[in-house]
Amino acid sequence: MSRLTVVVSQAPGKHPAKRALEESIVAALLLEPGLEVSVVPNLYDLGPDHTGRLFLGSVRGDLVVLSWLYPRAAFWLLDRDGIKGHAGETQLKPPADDDEDDTPAEPAADKPQAIGAAGTVPDRHIYTLDLRDFNKHEPCVAEVRRIAAECRDRRAAKPANAPAIIQLGLAAKEPAPAFAPEALLAPAGRRWYPVIDYSRCTNCLECLDFCLFGVYGVDSLERIVTENQDQCKKGCPACSRVCPQQAIIFPEYKSAAIAGADTGAVGGLKIDLSRLFGGDVGDALGTAVAERDRELVNDGRVAVGATVGVAKRQTDKPATPKDELDKLVDDLDALGL
Ligand code: SF4
Ligand code: SF4
Repeated sequence: MSRLTVVVSQAPGKHPAKRALEESIVAALLLEPGLEVSVVPNLYDLGPDHTGRLFLGSVRGDLVVLSWLYPRAAFWLLDRDGIKGHAGETQLKPPADDDEDDTPAEPAADKPQAIGAAGTVPDRHIYTLDLRDFNKHEPCVAEVRRIAAECRDRRAAKPANAPAIIQLGLAAKEPAPAFAPEALLAPAGRRWYPVIDYSRCTNCLECLDFCLFGVYGVDSLERIVTENQDQCKKGCPACSRVCPQQAIIFPEYKSAAIAGADTGAVGGLKIDLSRLFGGDVGDALGTAVAERDRELVNDGRVAVGATVGVAKRQTDKPATPKDELDKLVDDLDALGL
């Protein structure tokens, strides 16, 4: 019987309540048949040579990752590291979402075409669960059980002659390399870099023009990639504010919209509801330009303001806080929020 791999990504630091939740989830799942349970340090911090990252890359079948990150952030973070699959849908919703009605999706014709994940996506599913949604292990454990059953059913429904999963050049018959639990948990230094959500990105390359620190580049197919992610300036989320599709995620930024929450886009601006309802309406472009200038000056370079790397589309936007507030409120009214 093939087993479902479940990986718990630890919270950075040693927060006792978070560690206790992680441990209780692992303890409960270790007793479940058909699961392979492992623990790695914070997913976002795993460098290319970290054993935890190598282990994740070696997993061939369906995968569940529980982390302290928004599910969208964790999914595209894994994709960035070459750990690809189809996004599995979780039924685990944060308690506040329970009575949320399903907002009708934007008509496809009105949406710019996203470029989607690069390369071949293996025939498996990756489920990403957010540990911040609950402070008890039971809902997470129940959801992992549900996912395990869903994966079993999906496998059982496959025709007998369906191609076996082949990932990272490993034939399905080849035994997976063994990883010692203590090696998986080797400490990982903190990192800071942008993660691109390719289900939103339209490859407009505005981020490439805007970032003056060489973080972005393009691959052989001229698709945007984070080429030198560790050149990103710690704590700076500037380019995420100028991305017209809200496709750039900084998973550990304090604002939910930038950290990968599914807040969506309204009026071409990234909405940060906490700031909006706190009465502080950010001028996204102005803030991004100021953040970039601050990093340029910290590097001993000259501040450039909005004179470099800013798309005309952005500078044409009305800039007064009053105009932005009116537009945001109109847009929220239109959404019935
Ligand atoms: S600005 Fe956004 S949509 Fe445009 S290429 Fe960059 S990530 Fe993609
Ligand atoms: S946050 Fe700043 S340094 Fe990092 S990629 Fe974006 S613009 Fe470049």
